[in-house]
Amino acid sequence: MFLVLEGGEGAGKSTQTRQLAIWLREEGFDVLTTREPGATKIGMRLRAMLLDKENTGMSARAEALLYAADRAEHVDSVIRPALERGAIVISDRYVDSTLAYQGAGRELVQEEIAELNGWATGGLVPDLTILLDLPVGQGMERHGGRPADRLEAESDEFHERVRKGFLELADRDPDRYLVLDAQDPQEAVTKAIQRRLRPLLPD
Ligand code: C5P
Repeated sequence: MFLVLEGGEGAGKSTQTRQLAIWLREEGFDVLTTREPGATKIGMRLRAMLLDKENTGMSARAEALLYAADRAEHVDSVIRPALERGAIVISDRYVDSTLAYQGAGRELVQEEIAELNGWATGGLVPDLTILLDLPVGQGMERHGGRPADRLEAESDEFHERVRKGFLELADRDPDRYLVLDAQDPQEAVTKAIQRRLRPLLPD
């Protein structure tokens, strides 16, 4: 089973990934948590390139291709092997991040990005994607208002497009999506994830 957490900066993806893994392990499952970009050796180098403030102004298509390269390596060397041994894989970000950031945010053609990523992942689609939705200003606040990397220095308009991009993806595919208000208390968000997931869990 393949689970993904998505959302903007400061929405609590890493906290919820951790909580979800603790719960699933208590339930007796073999769980692997991972993240994009940067879960592999090659991915770490790509992540450094992608987030380096020196690279402000990188071509949007180069950016989309580097994320796709990170993802191809991630799927081939981490995600698929874990799924094949029967683990539940939880990834902090996946293809929909690229549709939202490089598609909606950088205004690249979403269909082309979807095609590129379908190829990069060999068509691997999550069983459930959990979107932690947060108003743009709030995410920045949670990060102390300081831009931590190249992307966080983007305009509010950029982050608004990204947020809207995620919500539209969720609207288009409600069976695969759980949208939660990341302003709710952390425990309430954790409980809501568990409620949706419980009936989907393998025996
Ligand atoms: O989730 P995390 O904070 O590790 O993401 C690192 C940075 O990469 C963030 O600034 C995020 O907005 C950005 N990102 C992106 N496009 C993606 C995935 C992440 O711009 N496809």
